Amino acid sequence: MNRLIVVSNRLPFALDSTGEDLWTVTPAVGGLVSAIEPVLRERGGTWIGWPGTAGEIPAEPLAKATRHAGYKVVPVALSETERDEFYYGYSNQVIWPLFHDLQNFCNFDPTYWQAYKQVNDRYADAIARCAQPDDFIWVHDYHLMYVAQALREQGVSRKLSELTFFLHIPFPPYDIFSKLPQQQRLLRALLHFDLIGFQTRRDVRNFIQCVRRLMLEAKVVPRRNLQLVRFEKREIRVGHFPIGIDFDSFENGARSDTVAQRSQQLRATFPGCQLILGSDRLDYSKGIPERLRAFRTALERHPELRGRVVLIQVVVPSRVLIPRYHEFKDRIDRLVGDINGRFSTSTWLPVQYHFRSLDRDDLLAHYRGCDIAFVTPLKDGMNLVAKEYCACRIDNDGVLILSQFAGAAEQLKPGAVLVNPYDVEQLGDAILMAFRMRQAERIARMKRMRRVVREENVFWWVDSFLKAGATMAAKSARVLGHRSARIAR
Ligand code: UDP
Repeated sequence: MNRLIVVSNRLPFALDSTGEDLWTVTPAVGGLVSAIEPVLRERGGTWIGWPGTAGEIPAEPLAKATRHAGYKVVPVALSETERDEFYYGYSNQVIWPLFHDLQNFCNFDPTYWQAYKQVNDRYADAIARCAQPDDFIWVHDYHLMYVAQALREQGVSRKLSELTFFLHIPFPPYDIFSKLPQQQRLLRALLHFDLIGFQTRRDVRNFIQCVRRLMLEAKVVPRRNLQLVRFEKREIRVGHFPIGIDFDSFENGARSDTVAQRSQQLRATFPGCQLILGSDRLDYSKGIPERLRAFRTALERHPELRGRVVLIQVVVPSRVLIPRYHEFKDRIDRLVGDINGRFSTSTWLPVQYHFRSLDRDDLLAHYRGCDIAFVTPLKDGMNLVAKEYCACRIDNDGVLILSQFAGAAEQLKPGAVLVNPYDVEQLGDAILMAFRMRQAERIARMKRMRRVVREENVFWWVDSFLKAGATMAAKSARVLGHRSARIAR
């Protein structure tokens, strides 16, 4: 079995200083961690990443946080300036908005690119220090698109059999990508990986289109499953690998007594109402204001919903140091205030708003207890909340209203009510449709979605990615004279 080395910007927990020599350890929230943690815990390996604290990394709290992880943790340190320019800067004020088609939200400050390369070099150093020839190196996400080029420039890559990359967020179409000042350099950097994975077919199409338009010396060989790009005497494979969830763990969690009790309590708090769940990180790509406006429109246009539905909107704090996220939260607060001010009665508050993260049992209780999930990102790489909701519907009941621009729509379209998140009237009508939907239809749709989420789960995702890499690993192992690489879970 090859050793798996996972490299991502963040480690699966954050260290936070609460005073001199006092540290808290908080498990990280987000799709990547939810997907990778169970895999590394199951098969062991190494996780390279940043523990979320600027400056020196305290050894003792780190050791405490990782003692029972089941895999090795290699921390990468970032200074405050690097955090600001690499993480808050290039990653989250350039790539994140641009790749979500929101180019007006970008801040193309030229200093950010230098910081991005510098920090990617640091991650490459960490890989070089701990990697051995047969290791399977799996780099994740938009913060680290320069790592393979950095490794090759250091000459380390020659000793490694495999450099693979998975992008968790969408890849934009050429017209949007070409606005990036470093368009050529970034694309070239990506082409230093051996295997590049995306969430959806659409992302692969967009990437290939950018390669064709911007890298004229590259040759694209279309294939049915994995596309091949020939570039600078190398072959890069490109494919889509939709990320899944640990279905059994969500389903079993939803069956537990604690979750059953909490979901009953939740339902008992709103007697006679259908519960609609919105659960997102605080992010402008999640379409939260549009969703609230749609809910307001639904209450205006369809009086039968008044007093009979409650929207539970959970917003998990995120990137609060970026000013735009502050303004965005203010917008959400105002909209919630407006809806509750206009429609509430002495016995009914239409929006229940939580600005905090829910613990796992509470989150599962919300999935299990809510009749409708309202998942309407403007654009999203995958959206795991949609899949987690389906996994927790152990009675096969429940309606998923899903944005057509979420990666999950490609797999869940046979059962979800697909919507355009910008069309607030259509969203409002979708609420009414979900509210009125007969049980037989709800069950038929939910069964279809649960089947996909169960089969194409996180282990299936990892296997298919590793298998795609293993084919190449075997090839390069022969070239390098290593023993044939076998990837097993
Ligand atoms: N999540 C959580 N606590 C909450 C709300 C969400 O742990 O209160 C988790 C949720 O289980 C999911 C992840 O956050 O796994 C969100 O992933 P998604 O792909 O939907 O969006 P991302 O935040 O990665 O953009």
